[in-house]
Amino acid sequence: MTNQQGLDYTARPGSTVSGHELANQISQELRLGQEVEPSQATSAQVYKASAAVVRRQMVEAWQRGQSQMVQGHTRAVGYLSAEYLLGKQLPNALLNTGLEAPFQQAMQELGFEPDDIFAAEREPGLGNGGLGRLAACYIDSLSSEGVPAFGYGIRYQYGIFEQAFDQEGRQRELADTWLEEGEPWGFENFGRARRVSFGGSVVAEGDRRTWQPDWAVKAVPVDYMVPGYASGRVNTLRLWEAKAYQEFDLATFNQSDYIGAVVPKVKAETISKVLYPEDSTPQGKELRLEQQYFFVAASLADAIATFYPGEREPDLTTLPSKICFQLNDTHPVIGIPELMRLLMDEHGYGWDEAWSITTRVFNYTCHTLLPEALEEWPAQLIAHLLPRHWEIIQEIDRRFVADLQARQVSDEQIDRMRIVTKADQPKVRMAYLATVGGSYVNGVAELHSQLLKDVTLKDFSALFPEKFTNVTNGVTPRRFVRLANPRLSALISEGLGSDAWLSDLEQLKGLEALADDPSFVDKFIEVKRANKADFVAFAQRKYGFEIDPDTMFDSMIKRLHEYKRQSLKILAVIAQYAAVKSGQVDPRSLVPRTVIFGAKAAPGYAMAKETIQLINNVARVVNNDPQVAGALSVRFPWNYNIELAEHLIPATELDEQISQAGKEASGTGNMKFALNGSLTVGTLDGANVEIRSRVGADNFFLFGMQVEDVDRLYSEGYDPRAYYEADPRLKAAIDMVASGSFSEGERSTYRNLVEDWLSKDYFMTLADFSAYMDIQSEIDEAYRDQRGWARKAIINVANSGFFSSDRAVKDYLERIWHTGPQE
Ligand SMILES: *Cc1c(COP(=O)(O)O)cnc(C)c1O
Repeated sequence: MTNQQGLDYTARPGSTVSGHELANQISQELRLGQEVEPSQATSAQVYKASAAVVRRQMVEAWQRGQSQMVQGHTRAVGYLSAEYLLGKQLPNALLNTGLEAPFQQAMQELGFEPDDIFAAEREPGLGNGGLGRLAACYIDSLSSEGVPAFGYGIRYQYGIFEQAFDQEGRQRELADTWLEEGEPWGFENFGRARRVSFGGSVVAEGDRRTWQPDWAVKAVPVDYMVPGYASGRVNTLRLWEAKAYQEFDLATFNQSDYIGAVVPKVKAETISKVLYPEDSTPQGKELRLEQQYFFVAASLADAIATFYPGEREPDLTTLPSKICFQLNDTHPVIGIPELMRLLMDEHGYGWDEAWSITTRVFNYTCHTLLPEALEEWPAQLIAHLLPRHWEIIQEIDRRFVADLQARQVSDEQIDRMRIVTKADQPKVRMAYLATVGGSYVNGVAELHSQLLKDVTLKDFSALFPEKFTNVTNGVTPRRFVRLANPRLSALISEGLGSDAWLSDLEQLKGLEALADDPSFVDKFIEVKRANKADFVAFAQRKYGFEIDPDTMFDSMIKRLHEYKRQSLKILAVIAQYAAVKSGQVDPRSLVPRTVIFGAKAAPGYAMAKETIQLINNVARVVNNDPQVAGALSVRFPWNYNIELAEHLIPATELDEQISQAGKEASGTGNMKFALNGSLTVGTLDGANVEIRSRVGADNFFLFGMQVEDVDRLYSEGYDPRAYYEADPRLKAAIDMVASGSFSEGERSTYRNLVEDWLSKDYFMTLADFSAYMDIQSEIDEAYRDQRGWARKAIINVANSGFFSSDRAVKDYLERIWHTGPQE
């Protein structure tokens, strides 16, 4: 569709609106929607009004896309994910719809600062970390690529906890009350509510088996629009909220049992009450299984209702041509038996037909290599909560085992591969169910996909090699470059002559030649300097930190987990500090650094929490010691979230990706940093491998053991104490922790950490310590040559275009979903 100037205005639903019109609409919304005069409005009120106006600008494109999707012949994508770590919506919606400039004008006309308005938004933290952020990047890219798609998930009333630190430097968790004052983006669509049932038993009528559940909740969708960047497509993120069918029991109330009257409501709403703050290890909680089944059952029923509107007996053999579902990790895998149940029990298909449909619509992304992170549910729990699904899972398992027997697979191997383990208390292995019940299994980086095939799912890949593929993760350049780093974005556009790189990130390659252009290098250095100054101001305002902008900004931001090895970083800091204290190192010989951590620990993860406490206390001691002033400081801004990432990443010069080789599936933080002109110090793990091969070995600080070294050391028998004895720097650092230097003389504070380092150290922090220390001088050396450093950073940016989530989505389309943009 084109307007009079011949411009494709559908590509940017808002781009025909002038700043003045937008100002009028926002004023009107303030007056009529919130009953406040624009001149009297607070930032929060203007934010809310702006969101409502922007949302309205997208409605037409949204509706058009929906009806084209249902009537068209393009297979849609249903992305099933228990988490979406969205970040703030307003700046992103303005950018993607082409409303950025009109909004700037409108704010000027109304007398508000856009940044104050953006600051009024609470970020929806409906995810823990990388996995949830990946889902958010993928729905952005699906819309941007013009692919009809749904994101399906849960609208948690409380998202990831807000982190605070107490006087002793320990983590405290506070509820994330993001819905406290309402939220303008979600639209509660009561007309599409679905019943989701639990419990009860299965009854046989002839050869038909039907589930007679004993309780149910109402799943109400809250719809969020997902505007593509300059694509004209607006998809839906449908997040389900649990409600009670009987909100209030009047009879109970009338007997003066006021609390009892709301018990059913409380019980039902518990299901979507809170996000599990676990990262990568599952917690075997009944409520968690309830959450998983709740959103998956509602989503499958919703998809069928969407594609077969009003049909009482739809021909569901066509379902695989309408939609395919991507299972983001094992959390939604209960969808496989649920679809089998729908097809057989509610629509009358036989097993074989139902299985053929089911296995063609599901695909599974595995996100881990840690065996303890592969979900296994006690059969007893599934049988109790979902008795019919338990029967179906057993039948899937029985047939699968029979198939393996027919292929002459040994009994021993069959036992390793069973979906339902053979034990007194059997368990259901959700990753195996997903592998058997879907078409494709993918890992999230080359190395990870290889290790899945060679180790984690070896038996399966040997028998079904055609199922296994790789899609290396990606991040959206709109949020993580354009919005987070406007200065670098402007410089890139200047260098490349247009901003087309924002939807075709491989174009960044064109910057490589400019790495040798002195005036471009100067401008790049200037951008980083200005970003650092911005972060200094942000950190002063938000955390009260005094950061010296003339130090190297060295950042490690990610969930706190032993395998990620924040311990290695903090031990290196302590070792450096110890060397200065003992006079072995002249602080003036070091490149001055500000070491910045950001990390939340799962509330029940004791070792991770002790590490947080240690980092905070190292910061307290180091930052207050005049002997290292100007040479070394440590900062730990609390509550790492998208907002902090967006501020810190553009200002970072060195980022830390130092997990034990073979443990980080991909990482996406590493990609965000490379795209923002930071150099990485890292191990050969996850997507680091691909980043390094693209940016070149000279532009990446590689250290440490590789996967084979780690395996060898495990099998030889790993003795961390030998490393402690062998490297005096390491010994000094651990001794300092053990002797109470960071706990005011109290020796027991970090006892668990110290004991673990010296006796177990499963992730081999100590074994990699010397290599990590040694590379620090190489880093310092490189940093002293500021232009050389900038050149390397530019080459990182130029060669990281591959790590766009647009490319990842295109890989999914080609390798797994076999679909594309709306016809
Ligand atoms: C990108 C991102 C992550 C993932 O970081 P990794 O370094 O890949 O673990 C986690 N949390 C937030 C807020 C992010 O933006």
